[in-house]
Amino acid sequence: MAHIDPRLAALLLAHAASFALAAPVGAADAAIIPFTPDRWTLSEGIAVVEHRGVQAIEIPRLPTRPDAVLKGPAFTNGTIEVDVEGSTGLGPAIGFHRRDRTTHELFYLRPNPDCATRPDCVQYAPVTKGVLLWDLFPGWQAPARYVAGLAGAVIRAGVAIATGVSVTRIAKPGRDWIVATSAGEVSAGDVLVATNGYTDGAVPALQRRFVPVGSYIIATEPLSDAQASAVLPHRRVAFDSKHFLYYFRLTADRRLLFGGRAEFSRPDEDTTRRAARILRAGLTTVFPDLAARSIDYAWGGNVAFTRDQMPRAGKLDAQYFAGGYCGHGIAMSTYLGELIARRIAGEPIEHPLFDDRFAAIPLYSGAPWFLPLVGAYYRVKDWVQ
Ligand SMILES: Cc1cc2nc3c(=O)[nH]c(=O)nc-3n(C[C@H](O)[C@H](O)[C@H](O)COP(=O)(O)OP(=O)(O)OC[C@H]3O[C@@H](n4cnc5c(N)ncnc54)[C@H](O)[C@@H]3O)c2cc1C
Repeated sequence: MAHIDPRLAALLLAHAASFALAAPVGAADAAIIPFTPDRWTLSEGIAVVEHRGVQAIEIPRLPTRPDAVLKGPAFTNGTIEVDVEGSTGLGPAIGFHRRDRTTHELFYLRPNPDCATRPDCVQYAPVTKGVLLWDLFPGWQAPARYVAGLAGAVIRAGVAIATGVSVTRIAKPGRDWIVATSAGEVSAGDVLVATNGYTDGAVPALQRRFVPVGSYIIATEPLSDAQASAVLPHRRVAFDSKHFLYYFRLTADRRLLFGGRAEFSRPDEDTTRRAARILRAGLTTVFPDLAARSIDYAWGGNVAFTRDQMPRAGKLDAQYFAGGYCGHGIAMSTYLGELIARRIAGEPIEHPLFDDRFAAIPLYSGAPWFLPLVGAYYRVKDWVQ
């Protein structure tokens, strides 16, 4: 056991793969590891002191985030005991699964008096390539509810919404635009095309710039309370750092929603069924305990990739457009939508994502023949990394 005096230490980054023992341990195998240089690599600034009659390390709060890394034994399965003392808002962090100084997992302590009722006293966060993927409270969006809310707001503002109507052609024969639709023609002073991953031949210029890619989600049957808590403590929302990433969260009725880019093709019954099988295999790899759980729902939709995977808004062939959301989602689409609307209304807005010279993708006119190659490339990259 080690005592740490936190009067100076806001943060103990004991980024150790382990504190103790090489093998699965029983009480008989327990070992006390002293803070001596042969056992630990202590960053500059960490002092070994005697505190309350035992050897301890004192870790100063520095921008360099000094850490104490255990040398030698790799902890596999068992219990790590470490005594800490904290008086500041943020206590020490204990690192594990350490690949190197920039990639590891952490849990850290906030010494609050009412820990039993607070979710933030013991916190977990992975650190990937130096980025702390910190997520304190569960926060997630429900795009369908959001869209319904937006629709209600614009209807209240006097906007007419037409659903179930296809635009087939947009032309500007004179001063006004003529928009040909499956329900007849509409004339308009300005046109904003916001068709993202569903952009079709009605706007060929945009079709040559947006690549539709399917994204899919499955939902398990409702889990038990215990299983839901074990899978995602505090109902956190998560995604991983692969190119073919998975994202997941719990629903109000304790289903696990598990999504990812399982299939490139446009969602239909077949591709959704195929994607569901792929996602199910992924879910079982990430959460083996859920292998026997049935999948109640599967669905998908298109997102739109641009050449540099950044969204864009602007004016192309005199038409306004906004799109290219491929992982940026409803926050960015709302934001760019507002900016482009203000520009249409005459505000002189400049923005890094405004691009009136948005270049087309060479050798591409709407049929993404290269997706299998790109997919294979990123799968290999994920495998290598
Ligand atoms: C499975 C899945 C889950 C997602 N989950 C999230 C999430 O949790 N959070 C998040 O932020 N984002 C999420 N996204 C991304 C989000 O849905 C998109 O970023 C967002 O919908 C983009 O909004 P948009 O209005 O630009 O395009 P869309 O919502 O795709 O709307 C484009 C519309 O244009 C219409 N259209 C296209 N061509 C024509 C035509 N010729 N005539 C008439 N209409 C046409 C289409 O029918 C469609 O309704 C998810 C995407 C998918 C596929």
